[in-house]
Order: sequence, then structure tokens, then C-alpha cells
Amino acid sequence: MALTSLAAEFQTKLAPHRYRRCRVSLIRVPNVLISEVYVAPQGEGEFARTPSVFVRTTGCNLRCWYCDTPFTSWNPEGQHVSLDDLVNQITAFETEHVVLTGGEPMLPLEISELTHRLRERKHFITIETAGTIYRPVAVDLMSISPKLANSTPSPERSQLWATKHEALRDRPDVIRQLIEHAPRYQFKFVINEPTDLADVESYLSRFPSIDRQRVWLMPQAISQAALAERTAWLEPQAHSAGLRFSSRLHIAQHGNRRGT
Ligand code: SF4
Repeated sequence: MALTSLAAEFQTKLAPHRYRRCRVSLIRVPNVLISEVYVAPQGEGEFARTPSVFVRTTGCNLRCWYCDTPFTSWNPEGQHVSLDDLVNQITAFETEHVVLTGGEPMLPLEISELTHRLRERKHFITIETAGTIYRPVAVDLMSISPKLANSTPSPERSQLWATKHEALRDRPDVIRQLIEHAPRYQFKFVINEPTDLADVESYLSRFPSIDRQRVWLMPQAISQAALAERTAWLEPQAHSAGLRFSSRLHIAQHGNRRGT
């Protein structure tokens, strides 16, 4: 079989979602695997309470044991949406702030093109990332949530992912690139136990240029009860350490519900 025929067979049979047949040739339609797009107030960090379009990509290179969006990581689900359709869908909400989140939104190559198209339409773009992948993106706020040792899944749950997660979660080279190329950044650390604060300090000591007022500590919580319990001890500890505290307003209001 000629190479061109083989390529066509691959494109149509094995990766049909990424290609569309036209009259003269097969053309690649840029698309991203999306789990949900919705409007809600931002629940965390500097722009908390700001109405935002959330674009949640599916797929993650990590597997935090506490992941609050397992439908993008442990049990991924979603639909391939072309960039044209996605940008039109986002713009139709007539909302300035757009939050690209996941999963890991820096995973798909197409994220760069998506951000540049949103920039052309004058959106304020936040990217919420675990900080393990760098891509040249148009961004206004790089929101980085590095995963500490407290995030690694147990080998009993998955030996493969315990090993992979531990190998991938800490990328200081990527963190430096993300900060360098973003006009504005924030760090959000997920705190499970009071002893996690020592890990945050140890992490920050490797990046002396990070402004501590750009660092938020957030309770690990997927229920309102857990959020309240951890907020009680974490909020004062964050302030006495000269760091910021962020609640998770969507959890406080709705519990861990999709589309909020
Ligand atoms: S990095 Fe985020 S999306 Fe990925 S497993 Fe961890 S919490 Fe879930």
C-alpha cells in the first residue's frame, strides 16, 4: 500500500476525531479533548468571585490521590471539540475572564493556538496548571499548583501511577519558564495536614524570587465539612507564615459538583 494510503487509513480509522475528509485531501482539524465548558464565579486565588468561563480539558500526566476532577484524570471522559467550535462557544458567554483548567490544560499541543485565538478576542486568560509542562501560550495569569509529596497516590491504588506521579510532579525548570513568560503568576498549594506547611517552605526556598504574597494555601477538600475543618487551622497558619489563604468557594457553596 502506498504511504499516502496508509496515512489516510490511519487518519480515518485510528484517529477519526482528529481529521475531517474534504473533497481534495485529508486535513487536520485542530481540536482539544474537553470535559466541560461553563460559566461560574472563580472559586480560588486572586480572582475569586470573578465570573469566568471555565474550559476544562480532559487528560492529566499526574494522578493525585485527592483529585477533585477524576473525570479528567483517573477516569477520563470528554469529547473532541474543534478549536473553531470551542472559541465560538467560549465567546458566546460574553464573559471577559476565561480559565483554562483540567486535567492538565498544558498537555494538549493545541493549547497554544487556543490561547492566541482567545487573546485576539480580548479575553483575560488564566491557565490553571500543575506546572510540569511548558508551552508558549498567551496568558494573563499563570496559576500554578505544584504537587507536593502529599499528593502521590498509594502503590496499593496504582503502583504504575505512584511511580509516574512521583517522577513527574516536581519540575523546577518548568516552573521557572512559566514564571518568566507570564505577565502575572500565582501559586496555589493544596494542604492536607498541618505538617504540609514545612514542605511548602522547603519548596519555596528553591525559588527565592517568588513573591510570598503571590502564594495561596488552600485546604484539600471535596466536601463542605472537610473544607470547614481545614480552614479553621490553615487560615491562621497561612497568615502567620506571611502567605495568603484561599478558600474554595465552589466547594463551600455547592460541595464537589460539576459545572460550579
Ligand atoms: S494535577 Fe490536577 S487534574 Fe491532575 S490528578 Fe492532580 S488534581 Fe487531578
